[in-house]
Amino acid sequence: MSKEKAKNQEAAERSVEEKLRNLYELQKIDSSIDRIKILRGELPLEVQDLEDEIAGLETRLSKLQEEKKELEKKISDKKNEIVDANALIKKYQEQQNNVRNNREYDSLSKEIEYQTLEIELCEKRIKEFNAELKEKTEAEEETNKLLDERKKDLEDKKEELNSIISETQKEEEDLQKRSEKVQSIIEPRLLTAYKRIRKNARNGLAVVTVERDACGGCFNKIPPQRQLDIRSRKKIIVCEYCGRILVDDELHNS
Ligand SMILES: [Zn+2]
Repeated sequence: MSKEKAKNQEAAERSVEEKLRNLYELQKIDSSIDRIKILRGELPLEVQDLEDEIAGLETRLSKLQEEKKELEKKISDKKNEIVDANALIKKYQEQQNNVRNNREYDSLSKEIEYQTLEIELCEKRIKEFNAELKEKTEAEEETNKLLDERKKDLEDKKEELNSIISETQKEEEDLQKRSEKVQSIIEPRLLTAYKRIRKNARNGLAVVTVERDACGGCFNKIPPQRQLDIRSRKKIIVCEYCGRILVDDELHNS
């Protein structure tokens, strides 16, 4: 090999290594952007869940309050019935003082007895309603407590979300700029291939390292000779199983 030719080959090889380094750098930047997107993608969901839960609790609370009002109305109705029954009893007792015979007296006694039973029944119902009312009040207190907690959770989550959004926005913009900068120095043919592989890979990885003798993308074993070729960085080698571009894990250190 002539001196000139050897020099050219050396330059070509160096440029392959440079290409691999750029591709790997681009992959790392794009993966960081992916991670931010995933992080941001989950937080609004958590806020949404809390908002849904709070809306549910508020509905439960207003339903409980309505039920309590109904019970209070029922109790007041029964109390009115007792007042009416007592008035009747008083009326009958007065009439008993002016009866003409025993039959009239007994008839009034029966009416009084009936009204007395009515009062007892009303009192029994009032007791039941009061027990229900107590249950509803307890449920209301519990719901209120839970609602306060969830509202506090939501406040915290929203704050966290806002700070993460504003934090990552800057980071993402910086990463995006770096990604574009690296993309601009990669030859179009390679960049297109990178984007195509990345789009088709579920984890967004187009460039992967060799990990434990296997492809870091699909985990299929890579033969020792092929690993040597990858480490030599003299040509761009893709995984024969998944098509991802393979680099050695020392590339980013060297
Ligand atoms: Zn693979």
